[in-house]
Amino acid sequence: MPEKKEKFYLTTPIYYTNGLPHIGHTYTTVVADVIRRYKRMRGYEVVMTTGTDEHGVNVERAAKKAGVPESEYVARMADAWRSLWDELGLTADEFVRTTDLQHVRTVQWLFKLCRENGFVYKGHYTGQYCIYDNAFVNDAKPGDNCPDCGRPTETLTEENYFFKLSAFQKPLLDFYKKNPDFIQPESRRNEIISFVEGGLKDLSITRTTIRWGIPVPGEEPHVFYVWFDALTAYLSAVGGPDYEKRGMWPADLHLVGKDIIRFHTVYWPAFLMAAMLPLPKQVWAHGWFLMDATKMSKSKGNVVLPRPIVNMLGMDALRYFLLREVVFGQDGNFSYDALVTRYNSDLANGLGNLASRTAAMIEKNFAGKIPKPAEHKPQDDVLAKEAQAVIGEVLERYEKMEFARALEAIWAVIASVDKYLTTEQPWALGDSEADKQRKATVLWTSAEVLRMVTVLAHPVLPQSTDKVWALLGQTTSLGAFELDGLRWGQLAPGTSLGKSQSLFPRVDKVEAVERIESMANEELNPTQPAPAAATPAPASTPTAGAAAAAASVAAPERIGIEDFSKVEMRVGQVKTAERIVGADKLLKLTVDIGSEVRQICAGIAQFYEPESLIGRKVVVVTNLAPRKLRGVESNGMIVAASVGPEGRPVLAGFHEDVEVGARLK
Ligand SMILES: [Zn+2]
Repeated sequence: MPEKKEKFYLTTPIYYTNGLPHIGHTYTTVVADVIRRYKRMRGYEVVMTTGTDEHGVNVERAAKKAGVPESEYVARMADAWRSLWDELGLTADEFVRTTDLQHVRTVQWLFKLCRENGFVYKGHYTGQYCIYDNAFVNDAKPGDNCPDCGRPTETLTEENYFFKLSAFQKPLLDFYKKNPDFIQPESRRNEIISFVEGGLKDLSITRTTIRWGIPVPGEEPHVFYVWFDALTAYLSAVGGPDYEKRGMWPADLHLVGKDIIRFHTVYWPAFLMAAMLPLPKQVWAHGWFLMDATKMSKSKGNVVLPRPIVNMLGMDALRYFLLREVVFGQDGNFSYDALVTRYNSDLANGLGNLASRTAAMIEKNFAGKIPKPAEHKPQDDVLAKEAQAVIGEVLERYEKMEFARALEAIWAVIASVDKYLTTEQPWALGDSEADKQRKATVLWTSAEVLRMVTVLAHPVLPQSTDKVWALLGQTTSLGAFELDGLRWGQLAPGTSLGKSQSLFPRVDKVEAVERIESMANEELNPTQPAPAAATPAPASTPTAGAAAAAASVAAPERIGIEDFSKVEMRVGQVKTAERIVGADKLLKLTVDIGSEVRQICAGIAQFYEPESLIGRKVVVVTNLAPRKLRGVESNGMIVAASVGPEGRPVLAGFHEDVEVGARLK
């Protein structure tokens, strides 16, 4: 290891805040997170930046529509983005907002450098302008209508500052030649080179018709326009004018979608050349996930959201699918069907099954301690050799961003150990000394392969590999494991296994897809919150006890008896109760209410064991309209008190025996 760690700085795009993240943004951010974890395991000091692009006329409009000042609108959007990334375990090291003071200073500083070096001049921009939307319509010709509002555009000329992009044709072509890895993948590189060879026009970098932007100092009403502002965020995130102190610039990797590669490989290096600042090392453009071969967009209604998938299958399942399903750099198709199929075959039946069966056999035969292997047979050595060989291959694949190939190689080893177990049949061996020794060798070998694939898969499956790691009795941090030190044979006999944990419970495909779609639908078309939504729990807890007291403080309005009589409550008896995969807080109950048996979901899973509820009498609101919770239909509501600051639910009940179906009055 070098004394001082080598640095690695990578970025996702600075996402535009006119909407919320869908699977496309999630994909880029997941890839960045995988690379970050991988590089850390290779001994680098890594910084990953993401953020929000908060200026421009679209934000002005959206804020106006929402009836709030722009600053408030973008603060809300930035919060929403940040908290979704946190929820998905994708917290970046730096989250830059283009309204941050540090960023404003950096953009103004970069402009000053470009201007001092003679690459900025004042000129005029003429284009088609929509006076209703207060915006230029890019690429429109005189006589064209505005694509947003359909009204005629007017030809308008405004004073702009221009960047002399034309001066950088040769320097850029020279730079691409000297740095053949700068633009990836290869196909994009050729595209960009021919674009630059075709000649570059100077670029307007300020506007006077936009209000919501970073002011050009001393040149008001000029504000910076789109790319000069947004691209600079990569630099402002790691120190801006003081970048040398932080030591992270230049970026080692900008990850982008293929639609914005030109701005990153032409404009951005040109701005930096003009300012005489160091250039990024690489820009990688990935493809899109398509739904039925078309690009996802909210207006087409085919947007895939990350949260419903994560609720149902877990974040690791989504990460695995995104990286395994398509070759990085190309377009891929997204389908829930393929997602759930991969989940069941590769995660539940693959890694999950290997971990649980290996641990169970060690538990049963060796009192939960990793056995000491005895004499090897050739088939043991074949597997050992395969596992050792895959290390180099996987590292090379990660290094080249061939994630699908890396995972394929890891899963080939998982298949080999499954086959090995099937052939060796350790469960069929008896209690003779020879049999015991053979059992020990086979189970140690399997556990050692499991350990190795766990380490190698960690960048992609951080949460579940942490669980397998603990299951194998390992107490070090897996994220800090040095990949370069990974060798066959490091699993120490005698290590006590950790507690077994549920990794990837198998799911029914039809049901899983239905529930993901239903949750996505809930998120895209939120219904009105229920009137008694004073409680955060997704079900139960309306009227009784503490909840009622709390609610009456918040809502002192009184109701007449005729309002109360609209609510029908009956005594019910719980018939069955089970947990719901993908919904930690919910239990699915069937409740006999006298006239019928109903399915009801209740938000009590963290406080009541399902078995303890069977046979219990509860109070049910029976005339509540059916609704779906986490995609599961709930037909009624169980009444509970909400106790304490965290709102612990306590089910309402009776001290005397009551008849099922009796009405509460
Ligand atoms: Zn218009």
